Amino acid sequence: MRLTVPSAGARVLVHTPGPRIAETVHGLLDQGATVALRVDSSSAGGVVADLASRRLVTFDPDADFDAYDLVLRDPWGQPGAATDEHDSPAGARATAGRVVLVGGGPGDPGLLTLAGMSALQAADVVVCDRLAPLGLLDTLDPGVEVIHVGKIPRGEFTPQERINAILVEQARAGRTVVRLKGGDSFVFGRGGEEWNACIEAGIPVSVIPGVTSSIAGPALAGIPVTHRELAQGFVVVSGHVGPQDTRGSVDWGAVARTGLTIVVLMGVANLEPLARALVANGVDPRTPAACVADAGLATQRVVRATVADLAAAVADADLRPPAVTVIGHAVAALAAPRP
Ligand code: SAH
Repeated sequence: MRLTVPSAGARVLVHTPGPRIAETVHGLLDQGATVALRVDSSSAGGVVADLASRRLVTFDPDADFDAYDLVLRDPWGQPGAATDEHDSPAGARATAGRVVLVGGGPGDPGLLTLAGMSALQAADVVVCDRLAPLGLLDTLDPGVEVIHVGKIPRGEFTPQERINAILVEQARAGRTVVRLKGGDSFVFGRGGEEWNACIEAGIPVSVIPGVTSSIAGPALAGIPVTHRELAQGFVVVSGHVGPQDTRGSVDWGAVARTGLTIVVLMGVANLEPLARALVANGVDPRTPAACVADAGLATQRVVRATVADLAAAVADADLRPPAVTVIGHAVAALAAPRP
């Protein structure tokens, strides 16, 4: 169900967005298009609102079709299209099902591994997150069932127990199930819980590692996480629960004292207290830092500042998640390319 655009940079309007609009949009963005949806922002919920808040799409409810290079109907717009039972051959049903945990990389389809791509091509059903390389899914056989279980921050989400149950149910029905995630499944991806749920249910499970955003996000912004004489290592920490929050278990003082590059995922909302805790524990306030949002996507944005000024700079730029924050001398290690 791939929609092809005539040229990179094409302005595309999609009307009647269906339940799999995220795949349609990512498929178009991957080809270099800019995408508008013919919907009213006030009526947009869930996935559509999430796409807009990440600036992957704009809304144009009263669209003038002549202003676009291409006007398309979402191929998944028909209500039944996304939910049709997968009509797999009888032979496939007879074989035992299995689950493959595939790390999809940060969102650019080019950063999915070859092993991950082969697993996708062999899948009967793909259970995917919103940060996975969704643009790839519309290159698969239309009979492959796609189940979105994305967790939109402060929005729609499928509880982890339900996701585990979906994986087990689908595999028990004899299907080859790919669990497709952003980055690597075992880096804040809850892949371990999914693995254990499969083993407990007697379902064969395997893992294909992915390119994690904790390393790829900085790299795509020109930042190495290690650099000879500047950083002899790096730590990757979740900033979901900030240092001010008693539920947190991270020793921020210890993190500050490592002298290593500090990479924070899920930290945009807590940047200010995080930076304060690091500086209070000995990190030089002038240490270079950066925040990389939507790494690997056409909407990638980077804000650079000192660690002391980063939270304000990120707020000024209105940078939104998903973003990777990186703090340390390696942030300034790379020379600018010669003109
Ligand atoms: N398993 C993933 C991380 C999941 S936690 C991995 O290995 O990359 C979700 C967090 O990952 C986001 O809040 C953000 O901090 C980071 N992230 C994932 N994709 C990203 C991207 N394309 N750009 C920037 N940050 C990203």
